[in-house]
Amino acid sequence: MRTHGNEREFASRPEGSGELRGTRMPDPLQPKASPNDKPIPGTVGVLRIFGVPIRLHFTFLLLLVFLIFIGIGGKQSGLATAIYIIALFGSVLVHEVCHALVARLYGLRTSEIVMFPIGGVSRLEGQPKPRQELPIALAGPASNLVIGLVLLATQHDLLPLATLSVPTDANLIQRIAAGNLLLGLFNLLPAYPMDGGRILRSLIALRKPEEEATQIAASAGQFFAVAMGLFGLLSGNFLLMFVALFVYLGAQQEGAAARGRSLTSGFPARAAMITDFRTLSHGNTIREAGDLLLSTSQQDFPVMHGDEVIGLLSRSALMRAMLREGPESYVAAAMDRNFLRVPPDTDLAVVLPQVLSAGHAALVMDGERLLGLLTAENLYEFMLLRQVSLAQARTTHRE
Ligand SMILES: [Zn+2]
Repeated sequence: MRTHGNEREFASRPEGSGELRGTRMPDPLQPKASPNDKPIPGTVGVLRIFGVPIRLHFTFLLLLVFLIFIGIGGKQSGLATAIYIIALFGSVLVHEVCHALVARLYGLRTSEIVMFPIGGVSRLEGQPKPRQELPIALAGPASNLVIGLVLLATQHDLLPLATLSVPTDANLIQRIAAGNLLLGLFNLLPAYPMDGGRILRSLIALRKPEEEATQIAASAGQFFAVAMGLFGLLSGNFLLMFVALFVYLGAQQEGAAARGRSLTSGFPARAAMITDFRTLSHGNTIREAGDLLLSTSQQDFPVMHGDEVIGLLSRSALMRAMLREGPESYVAAAMDRNFLRVPPDTDLAVVLPQVLSAGHAALVMDGERLLGLLTAENLYEFMLLRQVSLAQARTTHRE
C-alpha cells in the first residue's frame, strides 16, 4: 500500500544509512518544525534502504510477540519459526522497496516506509502521473509473486495446500512461498487504496480525468472494503476485518481529497480568501489576543509590525502561551514566524492540502502585502458553494 502527500523532504533528520534511532514520539507542546515534516505517530526506529527511511509501527512489535508466541510449542523448531517471521517481514519490505525503486525511476522520492502488521505503507512525495502509477503499483505485488514462484521452483515435490496450515520444518520454504503468493494476490484486489485499486485508477485515468478516476476507484475501494469486512465477520477472520476498515477509511479519505481537488482546481487563492479579518500588533499581550479570539469567529490572527506581517498566532499557540507564559506575555513571543504564505494566484487545489495539513490559516500575500486569510472552514464553504452551483447548472441544463 502507499499513500501520497505533498510532503517535504525530511531535511531535519540526520543522514546516515543503516543506523537505528530512538523513538520520536510527538510532543503536543513542542512547536512543530513544519506541518508536513512529521512521521506517522507511534513508529519506532529508522533503518535506511536505498536512502528510504524504514519505520516500524509499534503494533508491528505486538504482532512479532504474537507470532513468536504461536510459534512456540508447534511442530517446528525455534529456528524455523524465526526464519519464517524474518522471511515474511523481509517479503513485505521487498514489496515496499520495489514500489520505492520504480517510483525513483520516475524521479519520485519516497519519504518513508512504515511497517504495519497488515503490511507496509510507503509515503510518496507528490502524486505520480497515471502512466507512472501503473508500474509503481504493479512493482510491489509482482515482487512477491516472483519470490513465491522462485521458491516453489526450488521444491522437488509440492505439498497439498491444506498441510501448510500446520507449520513444520519440512514445509518452511513452501509456507514462505505461499505467504508471498498470498501477499501478491491480496494486494492486487481492486480495492483502492490497495495496489490493485491504484492499478484500476491508473487504467481509468487513461480515458477519464484523473480526479474522476480517483473517485471511481475510491468508490470501488469502499465497496470492496465492505465486502471484505463482511466476509471477515462471517468467517471470523479479525485480521481481514481490520484490513477492510483500513481500506475503507483510506478510500474514503482519498475520494474526498479527489473531490476537493476537482472542486477547487482552476480557481485562484484570492477567490476563496477571507478579506474581512482582524489582526494583532506585535505589542499586544496574550490577554488581548484571547479577548479578540472570544469576540470574533476568527481562530488565527496575523501579527503585524506596522504594515508588515511578522507572524501568525494560531489558537493553539495562543493557548500554549497562556499556559506557559501567562496572559501578560506578548504575542510576538508566541507567534509562529514560519507561517504558510500563499501568493493570490496560486491554484486552490494546491493550497487545499497545505491548509489542511498545516492545521491553521494560510496568509494570502502579494509580496509583503497581506490580502486575506485562507482557513479550512472557508475552503470547505467554497467547495460547498461550487458543488451547489454545479448541481444548479446541471438542473437548468436539463430543463
Ligand atoms: Zn504495495
